[in-house]
Parts: sequence; C-alpha cells; structure tokens
Amino acid sequence: MNRSQAAARIRELKDAINEHNRKYYVLNTPDISDFEFDLLLQELTVLEKKYPDLAGDDSPTRHVGSDIAPENNAFLQFPHRYPMLSLSNTYNKEELLDFHNRISKVSDQPVEYVCELKLDGTAICLTYKDGRLFRALTRGDGTIGDDVTRNVLRIKSIPERLTPAGDFPYPPEFEIRGEIVMPFISFGELNSAKEKNGEPLFANPRNAAAGTLKLLSADEVERRGLDCYLYHLIADVPGIKTHWQALETASQWGFPVSQYRRLCRNVEEIMEFLEYWDKARADLPIATDGVVVKVNSFSLQKTLGMTAKSPRWATAYKFKAEQAATRLLSVDFQVGRTGAITPVANLEPVLLSGTTVKRASLHNADQIALHDIRLGDMVYVEKGGEIIPKVIGVELSSRPGNAQPFHYITHCPECGSLLERDPGEAKHFCPNRWECPPQIKGRIEHFMSRKAMNILGGEALVEQLYDKQIVKDPADLYYLEPPMLEALENWGDKSTQNLLSSIEASKKVPFHRFLFALGIPFVGETTAKYLASHFGSLQALKDAPIEDLTEAPEIGIKIASSIRDFFENPVIGIMLDKLKDAGLPLRQDVTEKELMSESLQGLQFVISGTFSRSREDMKNLVQLHGGKVLSGVSAHVDYLLSGDKTGPSKLQKASAMGIRIIGEKDFLALIGELPSEGTLFENENKTTSF
Ligand SMILES: [Zn+2]
Repeated sequence: MNRSQAAARIRELKDAINEHNRKYYVLNTPDISDFEFDLLLQELTVLEKKYPDLAGDDSPTRHVGSDIAPENNAFLQFPHRYPMLSLSNTYNKEELLDFHNRISKVSDQPVEYVCELKLDGTAICLTYKDGRLFRALTRGDGTIGDDVTRNVLRIKSIPERLTPAGDFPYPPEFEIRGEIVMPFISFGELNSAKEKNGEPLFANPRNAAAGTLKLLSADEVERRGLDCYLYHLIADVPGIKTHWQALETASQWGFPVSQYRRLCRNVEEIMEFLEYWDKARADLPIATDGVVVKVNSFSLQKTLGMTAKSPRWATAYKFKAEQAATRLLSVDFQVGRTGAITPVANLEPVLLSGTTVKRASLHNADQIALHDIRLGDMVYVEKGGEIIPKVIGVELSSRPGNAQPFHYITHCPECGSLLERDPGEAKHFCPNRWECPPQIKGRIEHFMSRKAMNILGGEALVEQLYDKQIVKDPADLYYLEPPMLEALENWGDKSTQNLLSSIEASKKVPFHRFLFALGIPFVGETTAKYLASHFGSLQALKDAPIEDLTEAPEIGIKIASSIRDFFENPVIGIMLDKLKDAGLPLRQDVTEKELMSESLQGLQFVISGTFSRSREDMKNLVQLHGGKVLSGVSAHVDYLLSGDKTGPSKLQKASAMGIRIIGEKDFLALIGELPSEGTLFENENKTTSF
C-alpha cells in the first residue's frame, strides 16, 4: 500500500468507525459486532502508526465515541471532573502478557492485579456530596456527559444516601464510576413487550440499558429494572492505598460492587480467572464481554499514568463471542411488522453456546456484499447477548466451486411491491404499508397494544384473526361476534368473553390514545396527545390543512405530510368509517380529560351560529380551557360566542345585557390558539356585523 492508498484507506476507516460509534453510542443500534468494530479500529491504528502525519487530531483512535445526541438533546450536560477514558482492549493472551511485562519493568516489586468481570452495559459517573447522590453523568464524549440523575435515582441498587460505616469515613465529596446494566430477565421482558407493541427490539442488553438511561420518563426507567455495578472509586481517602481496598470500602458505604472479582498476585492467577469466566459467564444473569485487569497499587497506577485515550495501568481482555462454522443452505427474506426486510440464513444445524442454531440474521444487503456471502459457503455464526444469532463472515478457503452469489430481492416477498431504501438506511423496506400482510398485522397489534386501545390479545391472536380473514383491519375488531371466534385454536368461551369485553372497554380510551393507536407514521404518544388536545376530534384533524398542522413547533413538515397522506388514503377512509359506525366517539371526552388551560376559568359561554369547526368542537374547546357552556342567554353569561348565521335577536339581547360577543378568531386568541389581534378587550360591547 503506498502513501496515497493509505490516506484513502485511513479516511474510509475513520468514516466507517465514526458512523459505527454513532450507531453504538447515540442510536443504540449497532449493526456490527464489537469484534468486527475492534478489527476496523486496529487496522486504523496500524496505518496511523506507519503514517503518523496522516492521522489527524480528529482520528477515532484518539477519542472515545460519544453518547451525546448532537441534536434534540433533552438532557443538561456537565463536564466530568476527570475525563472518562476507555480502556485499551485485547482479544489475545499474548498481548495481556505484554501488558504485564511493560508494567513489571516499571515496578521493583511483584505486581498485584485486580481482575474484574467486564459487564456489558453503559458507563455512569456518580458524584456524592455529604453522603447523598448529587449528580449522575453518562460518559458522553469522555469530557462532558449527559445529566441523567433523575433516571439513575430510579435504579434500586444505586444508593441515594450512603451508609456511614466501614473502616474509612466517606469524604464530603467524591466520584464513583461503574456500569449500568440490564439483567437478561428484564431484557427479555422488555423485548417481548416491544414485540407485542410492534416496536423495534433492542439488539442486546447493553443497548437496552443505554437506551433506557436516556428515556425521558423516569417511571419507565424504573419499570425496566436496570441494575448497576460500581468499580472505580475516585476519592481521596487517607489510608486507602489499593484498588482492592477501595472496592471493599465502597461496598461498606452501600455501593453495589461486583462480587465477580479476584486479587491476583501473578499472571497465572489472571489466566485462571480468564479461563474460568470464559465458560462460567454463560450462567450469569447479566451480559459480560470480558475481564478488566487493573494494577492494584495506587502509587504504581500514578507512576504508569495514562495516554490521551486510556490509562496505562488497566486493560480489558475481551472474550470472543462464541462462534461456529456451518454451511449456508438458503436465504429467506422476512418482512417485519414495520416493513423492514431482514435476510435470514438457513443453515446446516450447528451447536452454538449450548443451543442448536438453524437460522441466523444476515443483517442487510451491504453486509452480504461486504463479506461476499454466497449460497453453499461455510459461514461463521456468532451469538453474543443477542436473541438471534448472526452470520459474521465467510471461510473463503473452503468455498465450494459451485457456491452461488445470490441476488438480493427487489420485491416484497409478501405483497410483491418494489422495495425501497432510504438514503443512509441499511435496510430495505416494503413501502406498501397499508396492504402488505405483515405490516397490516403489525398495525392491528399496535392498535390493540397496552398504550393504544389496550385490547387483550397479542401476536398469536392477531396472526390467527388475520390469517382466517376474520379481522382484516383494526376496525374489524369492533364487529367480532362470538361465533366468528369459534374456529380459533386454544380458544374457549372465557377467552371470547374477555376479548369482547376488552374491545367494548376500548371505546372509552382517551382520544389521544385512539390517535396513537391509528399508527399514523411518525405520530407517537406525545404528538398524539398534542393533536388530540389541539384538534379535539378526528373530523377536525382530518379537515386541518397542512398549515394548521405545522403551527405547533413540535410538528414539522414530515409529520404533517404523513398525517395528510394518512387521511387521504382510501383504505384508511374505509377503516375510519367502520370505526365511526361501530360507535367509537372519535373525539375528546371532556369529562375524563385534563384541562388544557384555565384561561376560561369561571367564565360562562353561550355558543351560537356556525364555525369553521363543529359546534361540538367549539363547546369542547370552551370546556377544555375551564369554561362552561350554557344553553341560553341570561345574566349569568359572560360571552356569546357567535359564528356565522347567529340569530339577530340573540345578538341584540346579548348586547342589551352587556354580554361580550366574540367571533371565532377572537375566541381562539382568548384561549391562546391564535395570536390576539388586539380587538378583544378594547370594546367590551363589540358586536359582530351581520
Ligand atoms: Zn410488502
């Protein structure tokens, strides 16, 4: 490789690594394994060593990846008092020996190490002041982190207040760092709930933990059952001279410190620890990906110091995810509930981590092309913390002569639509959202899900209802009769009763949940809440021109056009008519919902005439802002809300009684939905012309 080739490759590697860092730390959806990532990083490091002038300060070999989302960040950021570095890591024991040899040269005494299991989660830095948790920061870019204190307080194992116990008192202010993890059991529950709701799954517990820590709802954080293990005390406590002592002390103060650790007095003991846990970790309740080896003595740590990116006194030995080689027989293409296409390899059965693997994910078209994977190839299958094993490479040396490159599908295997792929997206998807069977099922499941209409059921029921063509869209649920359900498997009268009564009960869910249930692309729970309170009824939302939709700062043109497209779709029109005929209210119900404001508190209105929205919607708006609607003009009335065609006698009567008369625009200004035109209070007896 000459200099200019090296320069090009360095650029290519930097871009790839930065993108993988973003997927890993910000999006929490990595699409390559750690091992593959480390190989890229290693290649870059080697090239940069050879051509140091080509490296540049921005090289990912010199910085840790950042978990801070560059835009839309809902968290405050604070600088770390000491940079949060990452560890150098290795997959091979010789390098671990090199590490030990380098350190031995510096020390005139035998070196002690602490070996700790490296838990696979997301790093956290806690500051305690006067024995109370003061602040929790994510690693961020190593220098500045996101403040996630509110969420961290909901993790049971993290003490809000410390125990003043042990051999040493805790200092007035100090930091402690560790790892927040999601135990396998919580991970399984979370993903099965997501699956039921038709939401994308987390690839592994690590991404689930990182994603959960950045949630806006602390209640949801608590529900997800995160756990924490702390492993690095940064406190100036006279008398504590070793890392081992620091861990023991932290544990006495009430911190969760991992019991999976050992004080090792020589290399043999380190190797024993590695070998033991390489197998035993399979039985742990949490994901681990290696062992961290740290110099025990603080004074030796200080002598060794650190590089720009990592300390010289610690390294991580990573376990290789278990792999197996087997033959690729054929490839299926699965259409997910959201229309995303996943190529799935059918394999000659092979034993991997104690289970027989017959199918594995092939990621996407890019990965297949990158590895040049062909039918008949011997492929490597890996199983990490993930649920579905994946194909990570090909053994080219044993490629049979007849191995066939295969063509990625161009059309949806379920509905025949031409597949699309958004720029920057790895996956193809089927754009036929409303008529592609897996996507219809996904929509029905979403409609029934707990946060939407909360109808009992789940994937298996929807599968049967759809396949037997009993329910072809969400509206059909409201037309189910007991005899129609008789053909279902594992189904009895009791099930019928439960299902039908939960369907009946769903007619009363708040309107915003109904809007969320419709599954309008890009309309999540928050947007649905806004739409429900702002428009008040399905009809008003349906009629709203795009300018009205984008009035709210949280609704951009992408969401607005998606809403328009949704309502203009004839398939949707039919479904909405069926829902209406089934007796769903399709509007906000004033009695059960919170007020949007109290701007009309204590004011009484009479509504007369016609408006751009229905009379019912106007009435709702008055009530939503705390006002009352009376039926006739009387001395108790504060405002006559007058539209077109208000009877002249009513207007005269109101005017005579000193009742303020306002039109639709002024009313909307009054409740803050339109900017005030300044006419409202200038003339209290203002009448509309007629
Ligand atoms: Zn399709």
